[in-house]
Formats: sequence, structure tokens, C-alpha cells
Amino acid sequence: MEIKRSTVRMLTENKDKILKAGKFKEAEFNKLIDDLSVVELYQKRIIKSIEEYGTIDKPRLLSELETSEKIIDCTVEYLKEFGYLDAYGELPRFFNVEIQNLKEYDILPNVKIIRDSNLCCGCGSCVSLCPVSAITYSKGTFEIDEEVCIRCGLCYTCCPRSFFPKALNASEDEDHEITKFSEQFNYYREIITAQTTNTDITQVAQDGGIVTTLLKMAFHQNLIDGALVVTEGLEPLNPLPVFIEREEDLLKTAGTKYTNSPILKEFFKYRDCKKIAVVGTPCIMKALKKLSFYPLHNPFYDNIAIKFGLLCSESFDYSEITKLLKNEFKSTPSDVKKMDINKGRFFIYNKDGTALDIPIKKIKKYGRLGCFFCEDLTAIHTDISVGSIGSDVGWSTVFIRTEKGAEFFQKALDLNMIVKKEIKEDSKSFNSLSRIAKFKLKSYEELHRVEMKQQDPNVRITNFEEVSLGLTEEMVEIETQRCLQCGNPLCISGCPVNIKIPQFIKLLKQKKYIEALYKIKGDNLLPAICGRVCPQEIQCEQVCIMSGLGEPIAIGHLERFIADWERENKLKECPECAAPKGIKVAVIGAGPAGLACAGDLAMNGYDVTIFEAFHAGGGVLIYGIPEFRLPKEIIKSEIGTLEMLNVKMEYNSIIGKTLTLEDLRDMGFKAFFIGVGAGLPMFLKVPGLSLNGVLSANEFLTRSNLMKAFRFPDYDTPVKVGKIVTVIGGGNTALDSARTALRLGAEKVFIVYRRSEAEMPARKEEYHHALEEGINFQFLTNPVQFIGDDNEKVTQMKVIKMKLGEPDESGRRRPIRIEGSEYMIATDTIIIGIGAGANPILTKSIPELKLNKWGYIETDENGETNIEGVFAGGDIVTGSATVITAMGAGKMASLAIDKYLQEKYLDKN
Ligand code: FAD
Repeated sequence: MEIKRSTVRMLTENKDKILKAGKFKEAEFNKLIDDLSVVELYQKRIIKSIEEYGTIDKPRLLSELETSEKIIDCTVEYLKEFGYLDAYGELPRFFNVEIQNLKEYDILPNVKIIRDSNLCCGCGSCVSLCPVSAITYSKGTFEIDEEVCIRCGLCYTCCPRSFFPKALNASEDEDHEITKFSEQFNYYREIITAQTTNTDITQVAQDGGIVTTLLKMAFHQNLIDGALVVTEGLEPLNPLPVFIEREEDLLKTAGTKYTNSPILKEFFKYRDCKKIAVVGTPCIMKALKKLSFYPLHNPFYDNIAIKFGLLCSESFDYSEITKLLKNEFKSTPSDVKKMDINKGRFFIYNKDGTALDIPIKKIKKYGRLGCFFCEDLTAIHTDISVGSIGSDVGWSTVFIRTEKGAEFFQKALDLNMIVKKEIKEDSKSFNSLSRIAKFKLKSYEELHRVEMKQQDPNVRITNFEEVSLGLTEEMVEIETQRCLQCGNPLCISGCPVNIKIPQFIKLLKQKKYIEALYKIKGDNLLPAICGRVCPQEIQCEQVCIMSGLGEPIAIGHLERFIADWERENKLKECPECAAPKGIKVAVIGAGPAGLACAGDLAMNGYDVTIFEAFHAGGGVLIYGIPEFRLPKEIIKSEIGTLEMLNVKMEYNSIIGKTLTLEDLRDMGFKAFFIGVGAGLPMFLKVPGLSLNGVLSANEFLTRSNLMKAFRFPDYDTPVKVGKIVTVIGGGNTALDSARTALRLGAEKVFIVYRRSEAEMPARKEEYHHALEEGINFQFLTNPVQFIGDDNEKVTQMKVIKMKLGEPDESGRRRPIRIEGSEYMIATDTIIIGIGAGANPILTKSIPELKLNKWGYIETDENGETNIEGVFAGGDIVTGSATVITAMGAGKMASLAIDKYLQEKYLDKN
């Protein structure tokens, strides 16, 4: 196997461009190439070892390469991440998405982590390292100029937030007798609390003023030539990196810096300075660790004299800190002299002498999203770590980690520049420090997203039993540990009904299952359904911060687990209802929109009746989505929760036919919610539509689902499919039809879709399941004509190849015909699953109801129609969408209905 992703090659090919950019002189460039060649040689030798012996023969490699175990371990870890060890079952984790998407380049494209401001820690090491200066920093964001980028990969190789080899966590000290190890704090020699004796420093510095004092001592004793620190920027509390070379400039740099600063962005400039001290948060220390390790024997930077790490539980963007001060303290950055975190509270000391504080819990929502990724409170990759947690006000907690750190600290003590006190390992201080450190130490690197068990594809295509089999309690235990419990959780806003996701996951983690159920059901009465059919990958899971690393928390699986646990344990938890208000509300349609609206109104004390055309509730859930994805028993059970809320169900009532809206008014209903869905099948305009064997997905699925054709011969309404079935469309309806046809005995099933795989609106999981089951996808293909035999029975479908043009109004790229590319597909059944239109039965019966040009009901943003007291939501307003968006619309309308009824009837009483 060769090293395809060769940084050496990319750099060599771009030598002229690099030298022109001016960061490297020719000699430096050549040295870098030599050093990186050693890295790649090691990589090749390790791969060779695996190829030859089927394993990594470490003792042999150690003697052959004459190197350390740490270097071999790190190189193996890098190889795995760069996708070279796939064949041996060692799959990349951080770069898996990029590796999978590798088409054009044989080196990773500039990876997500550098471009995503949520994941980036803002240290600036990539700016400093980029040999062609393609990465720039401006006002808190990093940009990559794609034209300039040479895709050498140096940026992500040394990015602290990208893959971090575990072998680098090892202690740098030889002397393990003195060095201790703890899971939370990594390697250290001593943990103490200390304070400066210099009153000038006390005036301005944070906590005990230890960092400033140690730097002062180091300058004085010629232990350093310069220090990379931060200083007050143009705006107060918005610090900028600064390189100082004189002790006298130190005081300017002391003080409060909770705001991110790209401290390493100009690190490159100081490479001639031989002894640099660097001060920074854990992520900056991680970057330095990588920079001073890579490439192996001759690191990019071997001039770091000492690293001072700052304890960091959360860092902030400048705009967020401004918001925090405004919202929580009615203050501004220019009012503040310094900030502090102590004893679980966040303090601000104003210039006018006032001091205010709030619990730390309250500031978390202003923190950076990706801040959890360092999983490190105490800056473990340092010589000395300093912070306030665990010490008294005016003192610092100090971790002395390395021999070098111990020497620096001892010198300052000997010179009486600092004083110290012990922190006993059984003290309260030590305990609070370890508790917070443990909280931040997330094991997301080790824990992989759980995979739900499923029926074997070969077996499941012969039955209608559920494909996915749910999570076990053990799996839930693992998955809930992966949740970072973000201070500012994006998943909640990613969910159309705003389920309090982190809270329910936390309760699951604590095994408080009943409480977790109540938490979910407060926002969503149909968790077993939503856990199964919501497209989580474009909703809550898409915005989950872990999705940046390719493995979002399996929120849908967890939701399904807790709902199934309730059913399996024969429990029925039901949220509490408000006192009855004595007002009747009619909900028309028992689909997700109607059910959600009815549930919320009932919880609010209204007397709710649902009028449903069919003999059962659920809407599309019951007649559209097949049993193998969503068993009917589950729908029945979830509708049971509504019945417990005293919602009355009137089945077989077609409003507009059996009863009119006026009839309902006469029956005493004061407000109405219309959730009648979009069930009218759409047809293609192609010749041959009326041939036998051509049917709509709607009809096909309804017959299979409602008339229980899938239980033939127990039920005598078989839906016949031919040997070769061709389904047209790329949404859930098309996929459900194809997979149902397979289970009904089709030998071959094709899906013909006019766009490409990327544009398919179907749930990703269902697409994978369909592929596993052997459905044949013909992308970028569109039907032109259906052709039949003498008996008017369809036998063939003429199709044409398509290509993608510019995006259309849906945002997806418009398919364009490739003239002359027509060909035939032999088929004996054609199912058209290209979508559905507005159902006109009800709307036609209310001529004054305002509709748009497609026949969907027009509402305002709260779901109110042009008729007083009549509200609408779900597919009949938006056109075909999803279960959860329909539920969101139902819930929103329930609020508007409550407001309307309060104003009209209740406030007056
Ligand atoms: P519907 O579910 O259509 O419910 C409307 C209800 O109103 C029905 O029960 C109907 O009988 C009743 N009704 C109609 N007219 C009247 C009347 N005049 N009087 C009384 N009652 C009436 N979404 C997902 O999120 N995930 C999926 O995996 C998914 N798969 C799908 C698969 C298929 C085959 C289909 C067709 C859709 C799928 N969807 C999926 C979309 C989703 O099911 C719909 O967006 C959602 O059901 C819309 O909810 P609704 O309440 O607006 O309408």
C-alpha cells in the first residue's frame, strides 16, 4: 500500500507557490520536506509491517526504526485516522466523513473542523502553519481561500480540535516516581494553591497572579527570551495575542481573559526566538503539544521553553461575553475591571468598585459550543496549569506537571516572589476541582454512536415485522454518556416541537426513566412514532455538536427506547391536565397535526373531539407508512395517551360530507383545527398512464396497510404485484412502496428518480435499509412513456437520463434531460410515488376558506385561517412534509386557539 495522502508530495508540487508566499526560505522548506519524509517513511514501514505480518509488530518496528514507542503509537493512530487501516477494521473516526467523501483529491480537502466555527477553538495554529497563507483570521472567524489552498493538510494535522493521538497524553517526565497520574488531571507532580507577593501584580492580575509572577521571574532569570500572551485589545475584554520581550511590558498583559483569542496565529513569526513562554487555555496547549511533536524528531517548534496552561471550564466569543454582561449584570465590557470564577459562581468586578456574581450554571449558555471538545479543565499538556477553581479568592490553584515546571515554580518560591499552601487530596477544594474536571472530561473519543440491531435483510424481505429492533439498556447507557449536555443546546431548536433533548437524555443516563418520559411527553405525546420516523438527520441530530465529528447523538433511537420501555412495561405516563375550561374544540383529521393540536388543547383544559374520516387515527402513519417501519400497534398505543387526556375520537366522520363545519358550530364547538393532510395522489403527465399495472403509491400503500394485504391469505384483499416492479420517486413514499412490493413477492424492484442520491428527500436510514434489501436505484433517470401489450397491461417503461443544472425554487439542483439518452426498462408494475396534493373534500365544503393556488389552506404564522376561530396546520397548509413538522404546526395552532378562546370567551367571564 502506498501513502496516497502524501503531504510531502503536495508540498513539493507546490514548492514555487510556497516560496513565493514568503513564510519559508528555501533551506527551511527543504528541512521541512526532509522531516516530513521521515514521518512518511515511518508510515510506510508500519503499513508494510501490517501487510507482511498481518499485525503491527511493535518490537520489530522499534528496533528497525530506532525510535520510541510513543512515536510508533502516534504514527499508527494517524494512519488509522487517515484511512489506511480500514482493511484491518481500524476505521477513521474524526476524518471518517472526509475520507468517505474523498473523490477528487487524494489528500483530505480542507476539513470541516477548520471551517466550522462551532468546532474550531480559535487558537490560530492553522493560520501560522499554512505554508501559502491560505487561512486568514478576521473578527473571530477563520476563512480558507480555496484558490490559494494547496491541500497539503498541515492545518488539520496540527489542529487541536481535529484528531489528537492518545499517545500524546503520556507524561513528558522520565521520573515516574515523583509524577502521579489521575484520570481527571493526567500526569502531575503536585497540586497546590499559591499567591503572588507582588502588590502591583495583585492590582491587575486574576486570582493569585501566578502566571504574571512566574513570567516576571523567568524574564529576570533569563529563562525565557519572550512570552506569547494576550493583552487588552482595542475593545475592553476582547484580548489580542501579543508577543512581549521585556519584563516591563508584563503588567499590561495581566488580567481577565475569558474571551477567545487566536494566540497562535502569528506563532510562525517568532521561530527565531529561542526560548518562548506560551500562556493559554487547554486547546491552545493541545495545539502546542502537536506543534512540538510533529513532524516527529524535528518538530515544527522546538523553541517553547515553558507552557503555562489556564484552567478553563468554558470560553466565550466577544459578542457572547457582551451579551452575558448585558443580560445578567446590566453591564458593558467597558464597565468591567476584571472577572473571576470561584466557588461555583461567576464574578465581575466593576471599575466603580462594585462586585456582582451569579451561579456558573447561568453563564454556560453564552459559552462556545465546541468548548467541550478539549475535554480538559486543567490544561493537561503543560508544564504548569493555573486557575481559580479549588482555591480561595485571591489565590490560584496550581498544577505542577513537569520537571521543568517544578524548577520554574521553585525558583519563584526561592526568590520569595510567591507563597504557597497545600491542597490536601481529601479536601473540599480538591474534590470540587476533580468534580468539575470529571464533568468536562468527556469520553467522546472512545465512545462510538450505538448501532441499532436490525433484522437480517435476507430474512426481513420475507416478512412485515419491524426492521429496526431498538436499543438495549446497555446501549442507552453508552449513548447517553456521549451527550455533552451543551450549555447552549442546538438540538432543542433543531426539533420542530422543541423537545428538551439534553434534559431527557440526562434523565435517561441517570436511569430515571419515568422522569425522562414525562420530560418528553411534555413536548411530544407521540415519542414512539417520532423516534421511528422523524428525519433526525436533518433536524435535531444535524445540529448536534457531535455531528461535526460525524457521529451525532442518536437522539431518535433514545426517544424510541424510552417510549418502547413504557409500552413494554405496560405503563402509561400521561402529562397532567389543567382544570376543565368547559369549552369545546373540534379537530378535523387524526393525523400527526390533529393529534398534537388535540393533545395540547386537552392538557390545557379544553374539551376536544377529533373527527376522523377513517376508522382509525394516525393519518399517514396508519395508511401510508408500512408496518415494517411503524407497527400499527404503536400508533394505537400512542393514541391511547390522548384518550387518557379525555380527547374524544369520532371515527368514520368525513367533515364536508358526513357533517359540515356549520353542523359542528351548531354542536357547540367554539374553535376548529383543520389537519386533513395532503392525501391526493399526484400523477405524471406521460403517455400510458391508464394501462393496467400502473397505480399510485397512495393507493398501493393504503391497500397494503389498511386492508392488511400484507397478511394475505389471512385477509382476502391481496395487492398483486408483478415480478418486476418499478417505483417512480425519491421520497419516503417511493421507498416505502418499493420495499412493500419486495415483501409482497416482487423479484426485482427498481426505483427511478430524476435527481441524484444527494437530493433524495427520503430518510437516510430508510435509503440504507432499501439498499441492503436489494432495491435497485436508477438515479438521474425520468420516465417518458409507459408501454403496454395488446391487453393494455404495462410491460415496459421508456426512461431518459438526466443531469443536474442550477438549483430550483426548492433549493435542489434542477434535473435537465439529456436528449437522445432514452432507454427501456422491462416492468410489469409501475407505482407512482412522486408526492401528493391537497385533499379537497373539506376545503370545497367551505368556499369562503382562503386557499393558495395549489389548493392548500392559507394561514398566518400562528395557523389562523381567514375565518374567525378556524385554524389549520400540517400537510394541508405546507404540502407534504414530515410528521414532526405537522406536529409542530398542530402545537403552534393550539397556542393560538387558546389565545383566541381566552380573549373571546374566558377573559370575559
Ligand atoms: P395526515 O397524516 O395526512 O392526516 C390527515 C388526517 O385527516 C387523515 O387521518 C385523514 O383521514 C383525515 N382527513 C382527511 N380529510 C378529512 C375530512 N374531510 N374529515 C375528517 N378527516 C379527514 N414523514 C416523516 O416524518 N417520516 C417518514 O418516515 C415519513 N414517511 C412517509 C411515508 C409515506 C408513504 C407518506 C405518504 C408520508 C410520509 N411522511 C413521513 C410524511 C408524513 O406522514 C406527513 O407529513 C404527516 O403525516 C402529515 O400529517 P398531517 O396531520 O398534516 O396529515
